[in-house]
Amino acid sequence: MSRLAQTAGLTDVQQEILSTVRDFVDKEIIPVATRLEHRDEYPTEIVEGLKELGLFGLMIPEEYGGLGESLLTYALCVEEIARGWMSVSGIINTHFIVAYMLKQHGTQEQKDTFLPRMALGEVRGAFSMSEPALGSDVSAITSKGVKDGDAYVLNGQKMWLTNGGTSTLVAVLCKSDEGHPEGTAPHKSMTTFLVEKEAGFGEVRPGLTIPGKIDKMGYKGVDTTELIMDGLRIPANRVLGGTTGRGFYQMMDGVEVGRVNVAARGCGVAQRAFELGVSYAQQRHTFGKPIAQHQAIQFKLAEMATKVEAAHAMMVNAARKKDSGERNDLEAGMAKYLASEYCKEVVEDAFRIHGGYGFSKEYEIERLYREAPMLLIGEGTAEIQKMIIGRRLLEEYRLQG
Ligand SMILES: Cc1cc2nc3c(=O)[nH]c(=O)nc-3n(C[C@H](O)[C@H](O)[C@H](O)COP(=O)(O)OP(=O)(O)OC[C@H]3O[C@@H](n4cnc5c(N)ncnc54)[C@H](O)[C@@H]3O)c2cc1C
Repeated sequence: MSRLAQTAGLTDVQQEILSTVRDFVDKEIIPVATRLEHRDEYPTEIVEGLKELGLFGLMIPEEYGGLGESLLTYALCVEEIARGWMSVSGIINTHFIVAYMLKQHGTQEQKDTFLPRMALGEVRGAFSMSEPALGSDVSAITSKGVKDGDAYVLNGQKMWLTNGGTSTLVAVLCKSDEGHPEGTAPHKSMTTFLVEKEAGFGEVRPGLTIPGKIDKMGYKGVDTTELIMDGLRIPANRVLGGTTGRGFYQMMDGVEVGRVNVAARGCGVAQRAFELGVSYAQQRHTFGKPIAQHQAIQFKLAEMATKVEAAHAMMVNAARKKDSGERNDLEAGMAKYLASEYCKEVVEDAFRIHGGYGFSKEYEIERLYREAPMLLIGEGTAEIQKMIIGRRLLEEYRLQG
C-alpha cells in the first residue's frame, strides 16, 4: 500500500473493493498499458476484467443489478485505474455519467430498460455535448431535434465523443424548440436524447454515422470520435426524463459528477508519476551518488508528494460533499482545477527526473507526459472551472446591504 493518498473513514466494503481494483491494476493494466497505448489498441481484455469486477455497475442501484456504491467509492476506483492507465478510466467515465443521468433524471421505463444492462456492461454509455465549433460554450449548440409525429428528427454534427465507436447508448444534447417559444433562454430549450446504436464505425443506425477514430497525441486506446446525425429518428420515449427543455440541466448535473471523476484521474496519474520518479531517482547515479541524494531532486520529490496529497484530499472532499446530498459544484470545480494542474506539474517533474530517458518511449513517463494535458481540457477547461469557482464564491460572499 502506498504511503500517499490514503483516505480515512472508509468502510470495510470500500476497502475491499479498492484493494481488489488496485490488485487488478497492478497485475492486469500496468504491465500492458504502455504497449497497448503506443499501438492505440483498444484494451478488450482489460474491459472484460472490469465487467467481471462489476465496475460498470459500481454506482448503479442494487435494484437494477449494480453495486449501489457512492461517488467516493467510484472516484477512488477511478484514481486506482488511472494510476495504471488513464485511457481505461476514460472507458468507464462516460458510461458512468450516462448511468448517473439515467438514475437521476430518467423515466421509470428508461431506467428499467437501460440500467440493468448497463450494470453488466452489455449496454455501454457515451455522452455528447461538444460540436466542431464549441465545447466550453454549450449554450451555443446548433444540433437540433424537431418533433415529427411520435418521434424527433435529429440533425447536426457532434465532436470529441469519448467511446463514440464502442458505446451502444449515447446521450446527445440538442436544441429542441418544440414547446419553447421564440426567445426562450438557450439553456431552457435543450433536450437530451437517448440514442441507441450499434458499436462500430460508419453508418451505425439509419441517419447516424460515426466516421472513425480521431488521431490523438495521448489518451490512446480509448476511441474518440465525431457523430453525424442526418435525419436520425428518435422515438419520443427516448427523450431523457420524458420532457423536452431539461437537457442542459441534466448534462450539467452529469458533468458535475464527471468533474470529481476527472480530478480522481489527475490524482491517479500524478501518483503513478511520483512512483516512477521516486524509484528512478534512487537508481540513477550522478556525481558519485543516487540523484535522490541531491537536494534539488529531493525537493522535487517533496513538492510532487505534497501535490499528490493535496489533490487527493480535495477530490475526496468533493466526492463526500456530493454523497451527503449537498451541492458540490464549488468543491468539484476546485478539485478538478487543482488536481489537473498538479497532475501536469508532477508529471513534468517526474519527466525531468528521468533526464534523457524520459524522452524514450521505453519509459512509462513518456506516456504519462502525453496523457496529463487531456485533464486540463476535459469536463471543462481550467478557465471554465475558475469561472464556476468565482461565481460561486461571489454568491457565498455577497456583500450585505
Ligand atoms: C480527448 C477528448 C475527449 C473529449 N470527450 C468528450 C465527450 O465525451 N463528450 C463531449 O461532449 N465533449 C468531449 N470533449 C470536448 C471537451 O469537453 C472540450 O474540448 C472542452 O470543453 C473545451 O472546449 P473546446 O475544445 O471547444 O475549446 P473552446 O471552448 O473553444 O476554448 C478554447 C480556449 O478558450 C478558453 N475559453 C473559452 N471560453 C472562455 C471564457 N469565457 N473565458 C476565458 N477563457 C475561455 C478555454 O479555456 C480554452 O483555453 C473531449 C475533448 C477531448 C480533447
